[in-house]
Amino acid sequence: METVNTVCGPISADALGLTSMHEHFIVGIPGWEHVSSKVYDQAEAFERIKTSLAEFKNSGGRTVVDMSGIVLGRNVEMFKRLSEVTGVNIVVSTGFGEERYVPGHFYHDRSRDTAYLKRVLGDEVHKGTVAAQMKVTSIKAGIVKVGASAGGVTSTERIIALGAVGMSKEAGKGSPPVALMARSTGSLSQLADLCLSEGMRPQQVIVEVDQYSDPWYDTALGYLGKGCYVTLNKIGIGMIDAGIETAQVQWIGKMIDRGYEDRVMLGCDSIVYGIEQAKTAWTFAYLCTNFRRKLKEAGLRDLVIDKLLCQNPRNALLQADA
Ligand SMILES: [Zn+2]
Repeated sequence: METVNTVCGPISADALGLTSMHEHFIVGIPGWEHVSSKVYDQAEAFERIKTSLAEFKNSGGRTVVDMSGIVLGRNVEMFKRLSEVTGVNIVVSTGFGEERYVPGHFYHDRSRDTAYLKRVLGDEVHKGTVAAQMKVTSIKAGIVKVGASAGGVTSTERIIALGAVGMSKEAGKGSPPVALMARSTGSLSQLADLCLSEGMRPQQVIVEVDQYSDPWYDTALGYLGKGCYVTLNKIGIGMIDAGIETAQVQWIGKMIDRGYEDRVMLGCDSIVYGIEQAKTAWTFAYLCTNFRRKLKEAGLRDLVIDKLLCQNPRNALLQADA
């Protein structure tokens, strides 16, 4: 059976349904675990995420991928309870964003290397993620996140990327995808080229877009051409910026016209609960309601919309049984 790791265990890839590929249930900048419970109210976070998941499910949503990685506030045991309570599948990520969000423990100049990162990421995918107080759970990550700073891939970002590549190559087809995110198109290309040149299969690479300018379009199109997946993020920003939403709809239309309807996925990059961080004005239900309607109004067929929301995430996330 082809499966995907969720917080409630591996499930058939066919059970994923309508999937948002990139959200953040909780976001705190590393160090958040040292703030007082006055600013991080776990009960309130739980209720707020539960409401968002219920809203998503009532709109037809079935699966949410939490892209916070290891350190931004991920709480896998809370997410498991939320999945049980709401019936929405939750896939958690391992890995890190750009270096300024990587705790010093993992820095290259603190003697960490590719082999170390490969083991850390591999344990999270194949054995279980680490929860608070270094407790190892049996909840396995279903996607790996790798980031790059605006000025180019740093030495720490490089060992994280190579660790992810090493793990992926070793596990072969049974390995989850690696999602690449960067602050500039230059560093995004550098990161993607590094992963591909080191032997990552393009269909296991997801290039993440959250800016809607011509260079980003060209970069995304380039990697679609190489066989990578692309996730278009910040769906829902139309709540506060209609111009960007118009660009999002146009990009999708153009990418489909170019023949990439099997490679494009969507995410809202929403923050439901911020630990002394602002939450976004939109939540991921927007994907199933307003945005889906916008795509239909733009002339996309239901069959194609379902590919972006259901079939492509299924194909990107699935892992064959070892
Ligand atoms: Zn994000």
